[in-house]
Amino acid sequence: IVDRIAASTTPRVPFSVEFYPPRDEAAEERLWRAASVFSELGAAFASVTYGAGGSTRDRTVRVVERIVRETDILPIAHLTAVGHTADELREMIRMYGEVGVSNILALRGDPPGDPLGEWTAHPEGLRYAEELVRLIHEVGNFHVGVASFPEGHYRARDLDHDTEVLVGKLRAGAEYSITQMFWDIDDYLRLRDRVVAADPEQGAKPIIPGLMPVTSLRVVRRMVELSGCALPEGLSEKLRLAAGDGPEENRAAVREVGIEFATDLCERLIAEGAPCLHFNTLNFSRATHEVLANLSMAPASDVAATSL
Ligand code: FAD
Repeated sequence: IVDRIAASTTPRVPFSVEFYPPRDEAAEERLWRAASVFSELGAAFASVTYGAGGSTRDRTVRVVERIVRETDILPIAHLTAVGHTADELREMIRMYGEVGVSNILALRGDPPGDPLGEWTAHPEGLRYAEELVRLIHEVGNFHVGVASFPEGHYRARDLDHDTEVLVGKLRAGAEYSITQMFWDIDDYLRLRDRVVAADPEQGAKPIIPGLMPVTSLRVVRRMVELSGCALPEGLSEKLRLAAGDGPEENRAAVREVGIEFATDLCERLIAEGAPCLHFNTLNFSRATHEVLANLSMAPASDVAATSL
């Protein structure tokens, strides 16, 4: 990933995308349409999420395998430790290797069902993502990334401890981190400063900002609820006003606010030297494409207005 970012030919700064494994045929078709758009626009990589407890195991493998086979995009397969024994994780890592995956994002995962509920490790499993980073390196020759949290992980004691945890994962052999999505650039900059101050060597590793252009107030509220991150009051208020009071939110107006905000955030991240812009796409291409076009990183999108 680090080499791919360095070799990217996208104007201004490399970009990358996150997909999730689709549940049905229509969703699968949408994902491949988006993948082909992003492949053409020169995405540096695409990461594919993994359902806690292995709930999307086969689908995640299928998607990364197809990305390897059919596109020019480099895939990162996510892997979460929750609910698995260490042996199951070893088998999963080998399976990724067999389908041609060389990049894994090592995560602990949240309790299935209630992400904010009480965390308990599998008795024969792992407790923290740092252990998974080590396990992946034991099993084979993989490049490993980890999660980072600009606002601090919602279970972290404090920001200093959160920084120690990230530095621990990087020292264990992670080459970069991808952040939880955020909307306040100061949170990202402060995270970067904290890691550099805690360990300059680890602080030199890329911290890739995770971004989401908001296209629906309902969806973003749900994402915020599940991930424990915060929407800044100013943005939240603008989105509420745009959504209106009707029974259905005014999606076009919400989208306009979301895309303008994301464009501005990306401009500021580029100015601050962010190594890559990583978009949570929800398997749609249009909003991300529009932000990239606003940043002069892609030709204007001519995709039909029915897609997000
Ligand atoms: P860890 O780094 O292990 O941290 C978890 C908690 O334990 C933190 O509160 C930390 O402070 C604490 N901790 C860690 N190490 C120690 C220690 N040594 N001593 C004491 N406390 C410690 N979830 C999914 O289910 N599937 C996905 O595909 C997925 N993809 C993600 C991608 C990104 C970019 C991000 C940011 C998150 C993703 N998540 C995903 C969510 C993630 O699994 C959760 O946020 C989870 O709660 C934390 O995972 P972690 O890997 O950061 O865990």
